[in-house]
Amino acid sequence: MQYDLIIIGGGPIGIVCGIEAKKAGLHYLIIEKGVLINSLYHFPANMTFFSTSILLEIGGVPFISHTDKPTRTEALEYYRRVAQSWNLNIHLFEKVIQVNALEKAFQVHTDKALYETSHVVIATGFYDQVMPLNIKGEELAKVSHYYHDAHPYFKKKVAIIGAGNSGCDAALECWQKGAEVTMIVRGSDLKETIKYWIRPNIENRIKEGSIHAYFDASVLEIKENTLRFIQHDKTIEIENDFVLALTGYQPDYTLLEQVGIKFQDDAYRTPIYNENTLETNIPGVYLAGVVLGGMKTNKWFIETTRDNGEKIIHHIKSKK
Ligand code: FAD
Repeated sequence: MQYDLIIIGGGPIGIVCGIEAKKAGLHYLIIEKGVLINSLYHFPANMTFFSTSILLEIGGVPFISHTDKPTRTEALEYYRRVAQSWNLNIHLFEKVIQVNALEKAFQVHTDKALYETSHVVIATGFYDQVMPLNIKGEELAKVSHYYHDAHPYFKKKVAIIGAGNSGCDAALECWQKGAEVTMIVRGSDLKETIKYWIRPNIENRIKEGSIHAYFDASVLEIKENTLRFIQHDKTIEIENDFVLALTGYQPDYTLLEQVGIKFQDDAYRTPIYNENTLETNIPGVYLAGVVLGGMKTNKWFIETTRDNGEKIIHHIKSKK
């Protein structure tokens, strides 16, 4: 059996592509390596989106949220209901390992099966691969690159590396739940991109000393009970129970490279694609969602890529 389209990734944008394919009567399949909207499922338990629910809507399904900024729990409920109401053809817990170009089609190899398709959409996001610290001690069990919730850190000394939205959210939540929080920040200030409703809170907590923060500081080594960093040429060692290294994420380039997608010669390793059709340099292979930005992970969002499905399916239909 040959599909018209295989969509790799069951995130919000993979779902959008599936909906558009279904609307167009294409024979399609979405393949997701984890749970539905796997990235969102692994976001911090109490996170709220910066987008309003209207801007996160897909497939014409209204997203009703209790406040102007929907929560992760509401988003999980919403996208699950969307997939359910559109009765999408989706395989969960199936990982795509390789995509091979045949003369007029593609073979998609997963850890469970082999499929043939005339088009492929790669919508694999960026949340699976962390930006490593590359320092001694990073492999210790007390170090995590993902933050779930504050409960384990009650009465514990937590170091947070990174001062973006994730780092600031985690710092505030851990402090509120009774952890002793120290932020180690490489720059001389918190990141400019911090949400405007978070900034005054974190700045004031730092100013009053409730949350300790070391700026222009770089972590050198993590040990079982301490953490060593350098600030202004001075090495400092502090007592420490847990480290949350919230230094960002990057796309997994394995599939993109393997299928032969080319990249711009820029700092962000941006994949090359046609902005109108989202087709890459490999005819029949498209990119969708935040993976479009390469390492510039704050370039695209759900709200700015939810039109990707329409663009791609329009192009596929025009070829037919
Ligand atoms: P993802 O949601 O990452 O989906 C990619 C999917 O591909 C994943 O489910 C993954 O498991 C799967 N996958 C990867 N590799 C394979 C493989 N080999 N085989 C099969 N499946 C695979 N955006 C907004 O618009 N508004 C916001 O308020 C907002 N808040 C955010 C808050 C946080 C903390 C973060 C990290 C991001 C936020 N974003 C927001 C960005 C938003 O989450 C992403 O834009 C969204 O997840 C992108 O959707 P996507 O479908 O492109 O990628």
